[in-house]
Amino acid sequence: MKLHIPSVIRPRGRHRATPAPAAFVDPQPGTRWLRCDTTTCAHLTRPHTPEPDGAWTCTSCGTTTPAGTQ
Ligand SMILES: [Zn+2]
Repeated sequence: MKLHIPSVIRPRGRHRATPAPAAFVDPQPGTRWLRCDTTTCAHLTRPHTPEPDGAWTCTSCGTTTPAGTQ
């Protein structure tokens, strides 16, 4: 006697395509890991991009830290 297994409980995924790995994004040149004192970043070290006036912009929350404070 052949047992019929409904398709809804049949194991799946064995032949599922492997998801492509996430692309590695190079950090922007000049990026520095600086402490961000906003509540959003909770004083954690986040990547900051340099501004033309010497300030640093947090890439996580977008807050600009004025030059000379870091
Ligand atoms: Zn931040």
